[in-house]
Amino acid sequence: MTKRDYYQVLGVSRDASESEIKRAYRKLAMKFHPDRNPDDPDAEANFKEAAEAYEVLADAEQRQIYDRFGHEGLSGQGGGPGGPGFHDINDIFAEFGDIFGDMFGFGSGTSGRGGQSRGADLRYDLELSFEEAAFGTTKTIVIPRHSECAHCEGSGAEPGTEPLSCETCGGQGQVQHTQGFFTLSSTCPQCNGAGELIEEECQDCSGTGVVEEEREVSVKVPAGVGSGTRLRLRGEGETGRAGGERGDLYVFLHVEPSEVFERDGADLHYTAELSFIQAALGCEVEVPTLGEPKRVTFEPGTQYGDTKVLRDEGIQQLGSSRRGNLLVHARLATPTDLSDEQRRLLEEYARLSGIELGEDKAELEEVSEKTG
Ligand SMILES: [Zn+2]
Ligand SMILES: [Zn+2]
Repeated sequence: MTKRDYYQVLGVSRDASESEIKRAYRKLAMKFHPDRNPDDPDAEANFKEAAEAYEVLADAEQRQIYDRFGHEGLSGQGGGPGGPGFHDINDIFAEFGDIFGDMFGFGSGTSGRGGQSRGADLRYDLELSFEEAAFGTTKTIVIPRHSECAHCEGSGAEPGTEPLSCETCGGQGQVQHTQGFFTLSSTCPQCNGAGELIEEECQDCSGTGVVEEEREVSVKVPAGVGSGTRLRLRGEGETGRAGGERGDLYVFLHVEPSEVFERDGADLHYTAELSFIQAALGCEVEVPTLGEPKRVTFEPGTQYGDTKVLRDEGIQQLGSSRRGNLLVHARLATPTDLSDEQRRLLEEYARLSGIELGEDKAELEEVSEKTG
């Protein structure tokens, strides 16, 4: 299959501005989005084609290559259907916020044809421990939502009862008005176009056709997520109307901080407290990691803030098998509550080093009285 020209795909001119390209892509993405075209392979192909074209043309460098060398110029860069870096939209798409962020309105279903409407999207806030976010986990959450009533199969009528033909429209679903020479028809207000009325309301759903349920949903959380990562579970939102598809469930993640580490993306920071003696003479200390504790060596003459890097001991980078690093920062502790012997040795050290300690306390007070 030969590839179409990217500008042609997006329907923009070759000198289109960045915002024109973005606008054109948004329009196509909305039109061909799989959510709006379920089980339509053509729409999916169009969606992917547009995404690929956008990915290249939105990137100044890639666009320049494409302008000069065409598709050839980009091959070998991991392109091809789906395009470089184009992920399955079913997965994590926190990074897509720019494009998709305002495409989905929470809480509002979008209307489709024939009175169908897509169900509303739902939001669930999920708390994770530091370790769960670092290693990934599977959580079962309970979502209160609506479902088609099984008792009446969504009809709203008690099974076994016959719906009554609507008297207002004679079962036609439409009513006619005569205005002068014209006869206009409109949807019957009595039965909303159904042509029949429920004789006896379903016991389970009181005639609404939907019931509230609590659904258990299993959420697979990949390793490396952080606060602010959103996961999307397609089709786990509210039920649609009149056979419309379900909305989606968005799981917003909140990660508890660690008591041991500071986290910065995939990197971890740990503060190792050394006595000034350890720092001066050099030492080997044990530091915690995500796995087994590790021994870390600080050379003689270590200064406050000196850092040791433990490669690949950080958190797994989201969507990658690479790990961040663990940075161990030295912090120097000054000893308190010295014994007489310790004090004497330190004073001896100071004398040998020519370190000025000043006068003793009584004399200092005398000085401050004179000056104060
Ligand atoms: Zn029912
Ligand atoms: Zn009617």
